[in-house]
Amino acid sequence: MDIEPTAADRVVVVGAGQAGADFVAALRMAGHQGPVTLVGEEPGYPYALPPLSKAYLSGKATAEDLHIRPPSMYEQQRIELRTGTRVSAIDRAARHVVLTGGERLAYTRLVLATGGRARRLPAPGLDEAPNVHYLRTLADASAMRHQFVPGARLVVVGGGYVGLEVAAIARRGGLDVTVLEALPRVLARVTAPQVSAFYQRVHTEEGVDIRVGAAVTGFAFAADGSVAAVELKSGERLDTDIVLVGIGLIPHTELAEQAGLAVDNGIVVDEHCRTEDPAVLAIGDCTSHPCGEHGGRRRLESVPNASEQARTAAATVTGNLQPYTAIPWFWSDQYNVKLKTTGLSAGYDDVVIRGTTDTGRSFAAFYLKDGQVRAADVISSPRDFTAARKLVAARARVDPETLKDLSLPLKHLL
Ligand SMILES: Cc1cc2nc3c(=O)[nH]c(=O)nc-3n(C[C@H](O)[C@H](O)[C@H](O)COP(=O)(O)OP(=O)(O)OC[C@H]3O[C@@H](n4cnc5c(N)ncnc54)[C@H](O)[C@@H]3O)c2cc1C
Repeated sequence: MDIEPTAADRVVVVGAGQAGADFVAALRMAGHQGPVTLVGEEPGYPYALPPLSKAYLSGKATAEDLHIRPPSMYEQQRIELRTGTRVSAIDRAARHVVLTGGERLAYTRLVLATGGRARRLPAPGLDEAPNVHYLRTLADASAMRHQFVPGARLVVVGGGYVGLEVAAIARRGGLDVTVLEALPRVLARVTAPQVSAFYQRVHTEEGVDIRVGAAVTGFAFAADGSVAAVELKSGERLDTDIVLVGIGLIPHTELAEQAGLAVDNGIVVDEHCRTEDPAVLAIGDCTSHPCGEHGGRRRLESVPNASEQARTAAATVTGNLQPYTAIPWFWSDQYNVKLKTTGLSAGYDDVVIRGTTDTGRSFAAFYLKDGQVRAADVISSPRDFTAARKLVAARARVDPETLKDLSLPLKHLL
């Protein structure tokens, strides 16, 4: 049964990242008048993560540039911001969260926006090595940025978006970069083989040594505990100065699990961001939510998803239910290549390339299922992206030959 909203509702948010910060702003916009507390473990104002592998890492952005909302917003909107504060438990019976140290905060509605942590490589000594990095927080990026000096050797373990973005920034900064991907191609879980091949070409052109099918078997340590070399299954040993491990994310679901809420690769929520307890919602990277398009459930790691779920949850808390139906999208910047993805490609049965992936740096890959356009990766073509979004939203049936025809503007296919 749902909770009838009142002006006195006390809303507590756990996690002051993208989803948490967007939620408190959306909640005030939606008209909620009662007390709102945003609790975050990290110090400082909520900040955006995408620049950590882009402008912040390259030194073009400062920590202040990363703020999701102007710091003045929290006071103006009467948001009690409690950063540097960790929630250690949820007492659902009492409707309290328990902070580390024992203080309790009462809630009418609790929103879990706890994100996740970088998946670690389970190798002895690696966590203590001062030149081994993971990238999930501003502190992680700051520690790595200091070591990015021209001529330094960087080994990136994992050919996903974060690893490739860091490789691009490092090359531009004059580092000597090797990317190790255990699977036969980079970005294997998220894009078509043609898009992977494109990125492998671009990075190779930029001077990155991209190795696919390259399994890491161990590390050699220097006397000071830092990693001196990465050992591969092939028997090869790559001497290095810096290592970045970018092998995915583990959602922070422990609080929900300990409170007896369902977790299935993320905190299980419905299309209104509600858990099975009507007083508890969850948003952002930590959630597993219904996937209207393909059936089943999905967990997305993107800013648009965090922001959209934040809006959905604000609507739920203010009693104006609006299901989360937005079509997912995502972006990635590497060198001068700007990727924008719309829709979800999972389950596609055909890929149509508009343009060429063998030369140049602009094309689009359309993912079709049963003849319908389900998703698209659009590289460095904002106009085509706008049209691709509409084709995906309409689940348009377009003849592949027409889709390929560069003489026909995409917008004419709508
Ligand atoms: C390097 C990098 C680059 C990225 N680039 C892109 C991109 O180009 N495009 C894109 O769409 N997405 C990108 N993403 C993904 C995107 O940033 C995330 O999907 C988004 O930030 C998720 O927001 P969130 O609020 O769910 O999680 P987060 O932003 O991780 O926030 C969760 C917060 O909760 C806090 N927390 C957790 N547990 C507790 C607790 N018990 N008590 C108190 N606080 C707690 C954490 O400390 C954290 O600050 C990138 C991510 C990274 C790491």
